Amino acid sequence: MYPIDSLTNWASGKGVWSDIPDSEWKDWRWQMRNRLQKKSDFEKFITLTDDEILGFTAAEDKLSVAVTPYFFNLLDHNNPNCPLRKQIIPSGKESLESPEEMLDPVGEESSMVAPGVVHRYPDRVLFLVTDRCAAYCRYCTRSRLVSNAQGYGFHPQIDQSIDYIASNETIRDVLISGGDPLMLSDEKLFSILSRLSEIPHVEFVRFGSRIPVFLPQRITNSLIKALKSHSNVWISIHVNHPNECTTELREACHKLASSGIPLGNQSVLLRGINDSVSTMKQLIHRLLIMKVKPYYLYQCDLVKGSSHLRVDPSVGIDIIKGLRGHTTGYAIPQFVIDAPNGGGKIPINPDYLSDVNNEFFTLKNFEGKKFQYPRVSN
Ligand SMILES: *Cc1c(COP(=O)(O)O)cnc(C)c1O
Ligand code: SF4
Repeated sequence: MYPIDSLTNWASGKGVWSDIPDSEWKDWRWQMRNRLQKKSDFEKFITLTDDEILGFTAAEDKLSVAVTPYFFNLLDHNNPNCPLRKQIIPSGKESLESPEEMLDPVGEESSMVAPGVVHRYPDRVLFLVTDRCAAYCRYCTRSRLVSNAQGYGFHPQIDQSIDYIASNETIRDVLISGGDPLMLSDEKLFSILSRLSEIPHVEFVRFGSRIPVFLPQRITNSLIKALKSHSNVWISIHVNHPNECTTELREACHKLASSGIPLGNQSVLLRGINDSVSTMKQLIHRLLIMKVKPYYLYQCDLVKGSSHLRVDPSVGIDIIKGLRGHTTGYAIPQFVIDAPNGGGKIPINPDYLSDVNNEFFTLKNFEGKKFQYPRVSN
């Protein structure tokens, strides 16, 4: 059925928790109750490196450490360079801060119009509903508030935020994020979506969530029912590496897709994790198999203590160059830099336009060959 990337290569199962009954393993509450958070939780299963041990101290006042048993199983327990391990186990390098780094790297605070509502673009808002996640990504853009390790004290004001959206008729698109919005109970999600569906100008609602990746067990029938309380909900998931694509994630995505929820993916370009054409190609092919459209590839934001995970933007451009034309157009994400200080997302592309004069657009194709398209005069 899937000739290119045989499904037998996809990870699955209970790993080091093989003695736990399926009924518990598949219960997202069990996964949440049994998250690994303390250094000693991890040391039961793996030998932490000196750098990782320092990382646990650095993390205390930066961003909490947590991971579900499900996702922990996907880490290479014997290899500190594992691309998944580096996303969730802290490094001592998180305590290094370079001068260009910021607490609020994309300038959200200055566009906050109500507690948790960032209104930067003309027709859409970012609506933050929680500061909690199922697991914490070490490079998180919003680590100033996420997990509250820095004492931000985020208290979403849902009523006030929805009032703001209701009273601004230009807002047709609401992006619900956090933290991870799917951490909220089904009841709470139902209530938020029902209220949004009463606002006639809100025609498009999407969630930004990494829950399907960290906790696919959370994608229950009752969650889907709650999500359907608005007639046009989309979800952007967040997968960075092909090893995060498991049988469980695929089933969760298929379940969402077949209930009528379109899916996109946002990846963050990360050093030693997904900074090569071959890794990205495998990732985006797996995303298509999961019925997920690769949406954005983000240059890693200048968040404090993230320099060890960032690469130069030219790496991202080269990756797109290595994909465009070489594989399915649907599979190619847009590479963007969310500009420091509130500039918003700016697309950057390989140079396919080699020259423009009064007569021709001179174009370069994926093989570097040049072609001319004549100007059209009116
Ligand atoms: C990313 C973002 C959006 C959504 O942008 P799209 O390009 O439509 O995905 C909206 N508001 C803010 C503040 C954002 O950061
Ligand atoms: S899931 Fe999203 S909000 Fe939560 S830590 Fe990861 S990047 Fe940040």
